[in-house]
Amino acid sequence: MTGSTGVLFVVATPIGNLGDLGTRARDTLAAVDAIAAEDTRRTGQLLSRLGLSVPLISLHEHNETARLRPLLARLAAGGSLALVSDAGTPLISDPGYLLVRAALQAGHRVSPIPGACAAIAALSVAGLPTDRFIFEGFLPTRQAARRARLETLAPETRTLVFYEAIHRLAETLADLVTCLGAAREATLARELTKLHEQVLHGSLAELAAAAGAGEVPVRGECVLVVAGAAAVAAEEHEARRVLALVAAQLPPREAVRLTAAITGARPNRLRRWVQGAPGDDRGTDEE
Ligand code: SAM
Repeated sequence: MTGSTGVLFVVATPIGNLGDLGTRARDTLAAVDAIAAEDTRRTGQLLSRLGLSVPLISLHEHNETARLRPLLARLAAGGSLALVSDAGTPLISDPGYLLVRAALQAGHRVSPIPGACAAIAALSVAGLPTDRFIFEGFLPTRQAARRARLETLAPETRTLVFYEAIHRLAETLADLVTCLGAAREATLARELTKLHEQVLHGSLAELAAAAGAGEVPVRGECVLVVAGAAAVAAEEHEARRVLALVAAQLPPREAVRLTAAITGARPNRLRRWVQGAPGDDRGTDEE
């Protein structure tokens, strides 16, 4: 700790509707010595709509490392800074992590001014379990990598939240159907808080069909919220995965025994599955 008085405020800004900017956020932006902004032009427009004039310093994913030293120097001199991104909460699929970490390591106070976040807004209207969820951010843009990521997420029982570019929505929904199953419940939240807000609920197959039928304009921004796997399905997925690995190395009888011990799955079920498991060329084992 340095004992400096510099404070970094992490300030959420609206995701579309200026009315969502709270009084504390406005007061903080008005009071700080400078604002580190992902896009100074865009934040400049926000400030002018708020009637504010505050020095802006650009801080985006390509210059964040280089900006650390001068920003930390301002904090060390006792200055106050606000960090904002283009929309929503900084660091949530947005720059700022390196600055927050460096400020903490240098002993400065880092204080949140919470507000809009598209993931949370979408989750709040999805009608899916919210007691536990995982935020997956953006999926890989290449299909093979995207499918591989979705395969690993298939047994996940918590509600899943994805950001997606609207022009990739149709292909991502098709991959979700392939990897997670057509029947999974999901919500597509597009243009939240804006004039053309659209929230669609349905199975993944229904959402994919809606996107394919042009019911979802290829405009704006969207979040996908997808129900987690049923617990039973997740356990079966895990048991099958372990069985496939073990059966590739051991005779069926041993593979069934070991997989049952590892996963707790019933040996009878494993015995039925082992017939199709890779590496098994002896047929079903007898107990
Ligand atoms: N930091 C932001 C937040 O707190 O939500 C997210 C920034 S990330 C670069 C941008 C993505 O957020 C978009 O591609 C979209 O997936 C989602 N998003 C942002 N605004 C949105 C809105 N009004 N409606 C739906 N999704 C939105």
